[in-house]
Amino acid sequence: MTLIRLSGVTKTFPPQTRGAEPVVAVDDVSLAVAAGEICGIIGYSGAGKSTVLRLVNALETPSSGTVEIDGVDITGLGERELRRLRGDIGMIFQQFNLFDSRTVAGNIAYPLEVAGRPRAEIRARVDELLEFVGLAAKARNYPEQLSGGQKQRVGIARALATNPRILLADEATSALDPDTTQEVLALLRRVNAELGVTIVVITHEMDVIRTLADRVVVMEHGRIIEEGPVFDILSAP
Ligand code: ADP
Ligand code: ADP
Repeated sequence: MTLIRLSGVTKTFPPQTRGAEPVVAVDDVSLAVAAGEICGIIGYSGAGKSTVLRLVNALETPSSGTVEIDGVDITGLGERELRRLRGDIGMIFQQFNLFDSRTVAGNIAYPLEVAGRPRAEIRARVDELLEFVGLAAKARNYPEQLSGGQKQRVGIARALATNPRILLADEATSALDPDTTQEVLALLRRVNAELGVTIVVITHEMDVIRTLADRVVVMEHGRIIEEGPVFDILSAP
């Protein structure tokens, strides 16, 4: 079953300076991600990877083409439906984007508070997520007291709080050292295997794709230039 489908998607941004050409960030991209898959998108800086992710979680709307999640075109959604969509899509970032003034538990609880969930339910869910990412002992710590790898585990727990079917990872290990990168990638594999979450990772690091993804999409200048099983695409010639 296809969970995410981009069909002929182009995203153009207005020129940055007067008189310049508009920027075509994503150029006629068609892409289908199956439920349960780990899809990697690789490419140099400026290739259009982040824009693809932002189109998937409706932070950007396509200039043309359609983006469908589970068969629903998300471009015309109202506020209510958008909120539900965002609960169905978690996101993690290179710089973790944690709230420094909130504890680990408070960070993980945040999406559930926004969603207006009852306090007892939030507490139980936060407990469960702390266990899952191995940070039960750090619940009352603040982000500044954590290592980079621990911060990203909090980011992952927060992204999973609302039980999304999709997790989007934007250069999620690029700020981490190699050993910590492996730990976080192992956790993401558990998120996929144990929780059944469909994952899209964007990265400029070949190793991340090799360790994590089932399938890789190569982007350049806003276009998909190659696509296939990781083994076929990334094995050295
Ligand atoms: P990547 O994630 O692969 O580095 P991006 O999707 O961030 O690529 O960017 C693709 C292109 O679109 C770049 O040329 C970038 O400068 C441009 N771009 C991205 N977002 C915007 C925006 N909000 N306004 C103008 N140009 C943008
Ligand atoms: P902050 O100081 O970061 O705002 P709070 O003490 O307000 O954190 O807690 C935020 C949320 O996290 C609350 O919903 C609370 O129930 C939950 N929470 C706090 N500590 C824990 C814990 N040890 N285990 C599970 N949930 C917790």
